[in-house]
Amino acid sequence: MSVIELPAPERAVAETREIFERVENVIPRIEWPLHAPYVAAINALKKERNAVILAHNYQVPEIFYTVADIVGDSLALAMKAKQTTADTIVLCGVHFMAETAKLVNPEKTVLVPDLRAGCSLAESITAADVALLRERYPGTPVVSYVNTSAEVKAESDVCVTSGNAVEIVEALRVPRVIFLPDEYLAKYVASKTDVQIVAWKGHCEVHERFSGRDVARFRDGDPSLIVLAHPECPPDVLAEADFVGSTHGMTEYVGTLASEQRAPRVLMLTECSMADNVAGRYRNVQFVRPCNLCPHMKRNTLPKVLHSLQAMEYEVTIAPGVAERARLAVERMLDYSTRLRD
Ligand code: SF4
Repeated sequence: MSVIELPAPERAVAETREIFERVENVIPRIEWPLHAPYVAAINALKKERNAVILAHNYQVPEIFYTVADIVGDSLALAMKAKQTTADTIVLCGVHFMAETAKLVNPEKTVLVPDLRAGCSLAESITAADVALLRERYPGTPVVSYVNTSAEVKAESDVCVTSGNAVEIVEALRVPRVIFLPDEYLAKYVASKTDVQIVAWKGHCEVHERFSGRDVARFRDGDPSLIVLAHPECPPDVLAEADFVGSTHGMTEYVGTLASEQRAPRVLMLTECSMADNVAGRYRNVQFVRPCNLCPHMKRNTLPKVLHSLQAMEYEVTIAPGVAERARLAVERMLDYSTRLRD
């Protein structure tokens, strides 16, 4: 294995001048010489390895805007991962996302910069729990949020994201579904459909920390504030929000506000980096940032991404019997999404 030497900061800063322009409103200029050598080295090594970097919306701006080739929410990453012609995918997100990328790209090498990047939702349920639910509700389809392990997906009929959950639940044309693992997303879906929802008690450790009281406090003295919330937030938060949607939905909504208003003030109730990344794109929007970090997403750093490409670590593998069944659940979601969009 060849060892990549980092370029000197001055040279790297000069080489990455155009890249810095994308992030200058969210990364202080004084910090750029720390990031620039890694950005230059990663972008060079990526070409050598014929690799692409996929980054979730919750990644820090120095990954999201400077080394990532494909960015988005879980659905966008899954769909775009399928189209890439690269030999290697480095997934800057959490483990279940890398498993999903592997499921739809079985012939590619899928790497994660840190194997410990997990998810409280994915860890809240096991394949054995799903089997018990099926016993208790025989004949009821199992709809799994993509924030689940490959083993849980393998026991499910179809996967969903927060962006397509309502539509897919309705498209199944059944009176009742088991919806797992996020209790709050399940409640949100139940509020939008007549299909009976059997929920699990999983929570996202980032979104469950917001409360309706927080929203009321932010609105006090700032009546023009526009509140956006992710459906993984508790119901009292969603009741206070002006807009509820996936990370993709929130980004689109901010885009509309940015084109219609001179300087809208926005409170985004989701993971911290999301507001930074949207701020990089819509510079006339003022973000109020209550900060709840996802410690799992933040395990990804530029030095770890560089190590991942250098050492070709850490490879994500899925047992063939599990992969085959899990892939079916993900493929069904992608098929529904394509059909519902057309
Ligand atoms: S933000 Fe929540 S749902 Fe997303 S990876 Fe972190 S813990 Fe999981």
